[in-house]
Amino acid sequence: MLNPIETIDKLSQEHTATGAELLALLTCEDPFINEALRQKAQAQAQKTFGNKIYLRGLIEFSNFCKNDCLYCGIRRSNKNASRYRLIPAEILECCATGYELGLRTFVLQGGEDFAYDDKRLAEVVALIKKQHPDCAVTLSAGERSPEVYQMWFEAGADRYLLRHETANSNHYEKLHPAELKLATRLECLQNLKSLGYQVGTGFMVGSPFQKLENLVEDLHFLKKFNPHMVGIGPFIPHKDTPFGECEAGSAKLTLKLLSIIRLLLPQALIPATTALNTLLSNGHQQGILAGANVIMPNLSPQNVRDKYNLYDNKKHSGSEAAEGIALLRKQLAELGYEIAISRGDYPGVIR
Ligand code: SAH
Repeated sequence: MLNPIETIDKLSQEHTATGAELLALLTCEDPFINEALRQKAQAQAQKTFGNKIYLRGLIEFSNFCKNDCLYCGIRRSNKNASRYRLIPAEILECCATGYELGLRTFVLQGGEDFAYDDKRLAEVVALIKKQHPDCAVTLSAGERSPEVYQMWFEAGADRYLLRHETANSNHYEKLHPAELKLATRLECLQNLKSLGYQVGTGFMVGSPFQKLENLVEDLHFLKKFNPHMVGIGPFIPHKDTPFGECEAGSAKLTLKLLSIIRLLLPQALIPATTALNTLLSNGHQQGILAGANVIMPNLSPQNVRDKYNLYDNKKHSGSEAAEGIALLRKQLAELGYEIAISRGDYPGVIR
């Protein structure tokens, strides 16, 4: 059953597809078929979430990193990166601003900064939850021990984002230094799930050495792991990394993958990411129309936004968070969507 239209029907009805079916769909260039896929994915998102879009306020709390991922602009060997670390009071201020704007989820993302010690981060989480008991806290701070994940969970963290980056271990090794292994990453993801976190994973589209077959592996991994959240975005080169001269991933393929992931995992929370919005001027809207249902506005203080540069030309609205959200509300309204003032938890059973 390699007819892409039949694959789209199967994805919509049974939420599965074989590797051969996915590969045929990914290579299909027929605009009518690709539009049919997009429409089914948008309909599925609306079936699960109605016309509501959830916002997550992103706070980039540190760009120090002990890792040396070959694609990432804040890797430790990038001597041109100007490093910063927000103090807890600054993080709390970002949350207070976000709360006023109607945000009910705060995402604390950073490099693997071991000077930001685990206890200190636990204290920050507890303070946020104390000041905003109706909000969810998401952490995105890399690979840690089960004990640290547990401490953060007990402090009140609700969710954790850790992209698997690629489900193929050979490909993983081409993107990371020798000390980083796919098996460790997958173990972390499993530990996070067992502890009771809502877990998000995902990958870059068009990362160096990636083949379409790898994307099929990524899709099958997602189906099997069944995460609560899935973040994907195009790879974008950063000039001070070994991949500085590589080509960026395709926004079109990213949109197509968003639609396939929406149909594979109908209940997942899926953001239209900053990377997608960096490559496409209306990337947020296009992501929503392809089946995404989350947007992550940046709440980091203006003076550090230019420093959390994972890739070149990262889009900043250039405006204060408040203006940014007012504009977003208007853009979404044009498409018939509304911003929800709610935590926007996973709608299924957390397991
Ligand atoms: N240290 C945290 C946060 C990493 S940054 C962690 O390890 O999880 C969040 C995501 O940005 C990464 O998982 C990666 O998929 C993405 N990213 C990093 N560099 C990128 C680049 N050059 N282009 C596009 N996305 C990138």
